[in-house]
Amino acid sequence: MNRPEIHCTVAPELRLFVPADRRQGRTALRTDGTSTLGHVVESLGVPLTEVGRLLVDGREVPVSHVPRDGESVEVCAVGRPQEVPGAPLRFLLDVHLGTLARRLRLLGVDAAYESEDIGDPALAARSAAERRVLLSRDRGLLRRRENWAGAYVYSDRPDEQLRDVLGRFAPELAPWTRCTACNGLLEEAEKGTVEERLEGGTRRTYDVFAQCTVCDRVYWHGAHHARLEAVVDAAVREFGGAAAAPGGGTAVPRDGSAAQG
Ligand SMILES: [Zn+2]
Repeated sequence: MNRPEIHCTVAPELRLFVPADRRQGRTALRTDGTSTLGHVVESLGVPLTEVGRLLVDGREVPVSHVPRDGESVEVCAVGRPQEVPGAPLRFLLDVHLGTLARRLRLLGVDAAYESEDIGDPALAARSAAERRVLLSRDRGLLRRRENWAGAYVYSDRPDEQLRDVLGRFAPELAPWTRCTACNGLLEEAEKGTVEERLEGGTRRTYDVFAQCTVCDRVYWHGAHHARLEAVVDAAVREFGGAAAAPGGGTAVPRDGSAAQG
């Protein structure tokens, strides 16, 4: 049986996915003669969501290319910022990325999140049905064909995860406009309509409120929560966007805990 030998070079950004003995420069591979290059790259451990251009002997080829004996393959990392055509940019995060989900919402980015583990098939189906970019650190999940789009989250630290996603997709930022608890949009609320939901100190101190249009959670302006503000300020400074909510104030969750975890 003819098993072509190819020579493969993987971009430095993608080498973490590749077995240690294949990380340095060019590596020789034998393929089965019928598998596509996409399959060969995946079998090396690299999720196709992370792959940009594929070059064979310097010429760009699609993932469906079937490698022939003696070809030199170059696997490039996906470009940043990455365009995701076909729908407004929105995300779906797996069960391990709750903190990242709350931080994206804090910045006004549409970030759906399942706090229960609903399983890979259900997550992939939701990504497809709602055209959401699935964010995960699970390579098996990212390989599922049903996913509408996906992206590997490179760090296990929430602040680095946030920079990774903002730098990669450049979503429009609109801080303090989205409910960190449920991803619903906030709207301004009259004090009278939310008053009975507030504790006495808050009721006396603040006058400008916002309320989630989905779960009714109440937020208020002016209650400075240093850690959440630091997250927002750093993100806006580096990645742009509106500096503050309408009215120029700051809305934080009632219990101030929504971006923890
Ligand atoms: Zn809500």
